[in-house]
Amino acid sequence: MIYDVIIIGGGPAGLTAAIYTARARRSTLMICQGFPGGQIMQADVIENYPGFPEGISGMELGSAFYAQAERFGLETVYSTVTGITVSGRIRTVTTDSGEEYHSRTVILATGASPRRLMVPGETELGGKGVSYCATCDGALYKGKKVAVIGGGDTAAGESVFLTRFASEVHLFHRRDKLRAAGILQERLFASSVTVHWNQKPLEILGDEQVTGVRFRDTVTGEDSIFECDGVFVLAGTAPNSDAFRATVACDEAGYVIAGPSCETSVPGIFSAGDVNHDAFRQVATAVGDGARAAHEADMYLENIE
Ligand code: NAP
Repeated sequence: MIYDVIIIGGGPAGLTAAIYTARARRSTLMICQGFPGGQIMQADVIENYPGFPEGISGMELGSAFYAQAERFGLETVYSTVTGITVSGRIRTVTTDSGEEYHSRTVILATGASPRRLMVPGETELGGKGVSYCATCDGALYKGKKVAVIGGGDTAAGESVFLTRFASEVHLFHRRDKLRAAGILQERLFASSVTVHWNQKPLEILGDEQVTGVRFRDTVTGEDSIFECDGVFVLAGTAPNSDAFRATVACDEAGYVIAGPSCETSVPGIFSAGDVNHDAFRQVATAVGDGARAAHEADMYLENIE
């Protein structure tokens, strides 16, 4: 079978694109790794997506997006995409199970994953006190002492969330100014979280379980060890673009360079959401991108028809 559209990734961008293309009666296949919903499935509450004055849990919102796409006839395959090839008007998407899926257009919506610190101990202690998701693992630290690393919206917001469980939450930022939005900073400073400035993480310590983190003070140059039971690395994201970096133009970090109509360097391949170079990385903008990419894919199909 040759689909009209294959969407790679099942977060807000991919699911919105699916709602639009399936509703436009374009045969649509979505390939995603896990249950659809994407990064928001781990968000305790989303307060800035319009339409929910009291906020909505990420899981509820992601599940609703998926139900809406399915209602219009979306097909879903659970697999990891390993490559995309282009031959004339046909795009072939290969997965790690060796399957090949064919389509006339592709929408890339693979999003981004937590950025790793790349310091000693981080990999070895993964799942043994090193976490990348406060919503997933916060409850494991009831009455314990945790360190959070990062200075953006995620680190600020999730540090406050962690105070529900941990007895002590310490946020370590490598600079003297947070990147987080004003309202999240206000909540952070009003909470019991202790903020440590100019602290660069050098190593995560522990054998069977995290026992601490070694930091360097970027002003004095002095190293210190902070003893704790867990470390939440909430230091931004990296693009999930390995499968198609060789197919479409990407920037140095691997984010897709897409134009204002979500078009990539390859005709018939569009890109939406957090995997894009200039993405604002919000649910609202991912949804907007998804709708735009779907519309452009539909126009492209109309033109070649
Ligand atoms: P981010 O804005 O990219 O911030 C990453 C933070 O981690 C920065 O403060 C950065 O420090 C720090 N960092 C990066 N690499 C580091 C390293 N190797 N060692 C130590 N620190 C490191 O990422 P984010 O906070 O995950 O947010 C991502 C996007 O999602 C943003 O657009 C954000 O607005 C959005 N978001 C929104 C909400 C919301 O409630 N609206 C919630 C979460 C996320 P520097 O500041 O020094 O670069």
